[in-house]
Amino acid sequence: MERIRDIFERKERTYSFELFPPKTEKGHANLMNTIQSLTDLKPDFISCTYGAGGGSRDKTFDIVEHIQKQHQTVAMAHLTCVMNTREDIRAILRDVHGRGIRNILALRGDPPADNPDWTPGAENFKYSSELAGFIREEFQDDFGVAVAGFPEGHILCPDRDRDADFLKMKIDAGADFVITQLFFNNQDYFDYVQRLRDRGLNIRVVPGMIPITDYKALCRFTALCGASISNEVKTIFEPLAEDKEATLKAGIDFCIKQCRELLDGGAPGLHFYTLNKVQPTAQILDAVRR
Ligand SMILES: Cc1cc2nc3c(=O)[nH]c(=O)nc-3n(C[C@H](O)[C@H](O)[C@H](O)COP(=O)(O)OP(=O)(O)OC[C@H]3O[C@@H](n4cnc5c(N)ncnc54)[C@H](O)[C@@H]3O)c2cc1C
Repeated sequence: MERIRDIFERKERTYSFELFPPKTEKGHANLMNTIQSLTDLKPDFISCTYGAGGGSRDKTFDIVEHIQKQHQTVAMAHLTCVMNTREDIRAILRDVHGRGIRNILALRGDPPADNPDWTPGAENFKYSSELAGFIREEFQDDFGVAVAGFPEGHILCPDRDRDADFLKMKIDAGADFVITQLFFNNQDYFDYVQRLRDRGLNIRVVPGMIPITDYKALCRFTALCGASISNEVKTIFEPLAEDKEATLKAGIDFCIKQCRELLDGGAPGLHFYTLNKVQPTAQILDAVRR
């Protein structure tokens, strides 16, 4: 299967989706339908998240393999190194390589809720840059490698310049491109890209977009990941919090506006956090794709 960086050679902009492995059988059956509908939209690639601590490890790779084999669509597996040793990671990469997976989003991840104090030892990777470098050293160009970027700085590193220096380390280690954490103020994205350009990095930084469908859930998630809810989002969505339909409509409208402004400003495509839902992303994509 093609590496995503080869798609970038041909396409100025890419449109892609993120899924997560469901916990239940019913969720899995629904996901199969969701994947059918999402691949009908002809995305450039689809990525699938990887549970902290490896909980959904096999499910992630099964889903990625399914997307590639049954839908002839390029897919990318997220992979976290937290709780895994170097040898574990080597074995996982050999396994996924054997399964035809050629794109990895290299992440550190976070210690799981039942082991929050876990710290890496000598046999573990400390940061995602080490994982990205390991993939390059062990597998050369066999894998396309992406890394995560944080326009507002990572929650543990709110100093944006320092955070950009760490991103440079990930790229120097061998990453091909960056997918960002969600954000609602586009200026944060544009400033982030400029910080990277100032460091001599001309890498693609694909903005991660979330259609707002549940404002309270969004507030919980952003508190955990350190992204901020802009005043504009607060003003629009707080009064609608109890009204699902109005939130859905406003969420689609807001995301369309945000996407258009990003593309106008030079963003090299959009990566949608679909939350395993089709309709909001389909409507937004239809309105903004160029
Ligand atoms: C697009 C995207 C997809 C994601 N997918 C998943 C997923 O599938 N599964 C999952 O569990 N989580 C996922 N996450 C969340 C991610 O695992 C967390 O944000 C995690 O806290 C950090 O991962 P990272 O890869 O950014 O870590 P790193 O790049 O290792 O950074 C972690 C922290 O260390 C700092 N740092 C980095 N390098 C150094 C250094 N050399 N010295 C000192 N400090 C350093 C950084 O600034 C940051 O504060 C995703 C996030 C994004 C944006």
